[in-house]
Amino acid sequence: MTIPISKVKIFESARTRLNQALDSGMLAQGPQVGELEKLFADRHGVNHAVAVNNGTTALVLALEVLDLQPGDEVITTPFTFAATLNAIIESGATARFVDIGDDFLMSTDQISDAINSRTRAVMPVHLYGQMVDMNQLEESLGGRNEISIVEDAAQAVGSKFQGRSAGSFGIGCFSLYATKNVGCGEGGIVTTNDDRLADRMRILRNQGMKARYEYVVPGHNYRLTDLHAAVAIPQMENLETLTESRRQNADFYLKELQGLEGMILPTSRPGDLHVWNQFTVRIDGSAPVTRDELVEHLNEREIGTGIYYPRLVFDYDCYRNLSSVVITETPNAKDITSQCLSIPVHPSLTDGDLDFIVSTLRKIWSQ
Ligand SMILES: *Cc1c(COP(=O)(O)O)cnc(C)c1O
Repeated sequence: MTIPISKVKIFESARTRLNQALDSGMLAQGPQVGELEKLFADRHGVNHAVAVNNGTTALVLALEVLDLQPGDEVITTPFTFAATLNAIIESGATARFVDIGDDFLMSTDQISDAINSRTRAVMPVHLYGQMVDMNQLEESLGGRNEISIVEDAAQAVGSKFQGRSAGSFGIGCFSLYATKNVGCGEGGIVTTNDDRLADRMRILRNQGMKARYEYVVPGHNYRLTDLHAAVAIPQMENLETLTESRRQNADFYLKELQGLEGMILPTSRPGDLHVWNQFTVRIDGSAPVTRDELVEHLNEREIGTGIYYPRLVFDYDCYRNLSSVVITETPNAKDITSQCLSIPVHPSLTDGDLDFIVSTLRKIWSQ
């Protein structure tokens, strides 16, 4: 693809930092991981950021410190990446689902009906970089303190709801995978304001070791390396600029792609910060091409596309007969799986790329 669907920004200072790591011999978790955690916590307005080796282990770790028992339930949406569901299953809990709205986000008005005596957590997915309405979500919990919020903020580094950052409402789980807004290949971050939880997570990520060879709990190896932190830190240092560039690209599309029949443009709530990990449109039956034909047309012209996600997360044989997955009718999410299409919105796009993508789409519509 001449214009890929995502592209990571590698800063010159990442090369310097990588060389520092290589020269120091400190290849595993070291001082640069600490620096990344500090940057991440400061930027998200939280007391603690715990770096881990990917976004999936971030979710697993967040659920593990809730001490879920078999039969305990976690509410999420089926319009998400497999990791959300896999993490719930790995925690030993049961996943229950609510539908999504036209903004692709959890329908918070369905949460109270999904709550029962076994509900222990709700896991909103801040999909494509836009936060779930956290006021409505908190209201739907009706003050039940036994229900924790675990934010799947994998796609939402730096995003804000009414001035408050993703990851600051509950336990926040972020991904530093290559296609995310801050990407270093593989990596993840868990955020929390709770000192005790942060302590437990730091111990669990490192084999359950509190001090050298002093094991206090059976743990994991979920550590991030300084090599990865070296690539992520410069992106965190430039996060406002990178996000602003995504926002401008999205604004350009929202202006220039208006009026194409059957193409439903994404929305964002005014006043909140959508960080546009993906720019996702819906192609419905009134468009001159089907979604899948459009993918082909764009790919022929070397424009990268993504379908996130082609099926509901539980719509695979491996989940169908698990008692820990409560399969639920979610008609809106189901429709959207056949309509969604993401086009490039990353900060490396040039004005020429953006013009080419818009004119290609307008040409397809005028044929
Ligand atoms: C990327 C992603 C994850 C998992 O992150 P990894 O770093 O790939 O393990 C989880 N949830 C969502 C919604 C994601 O997009």
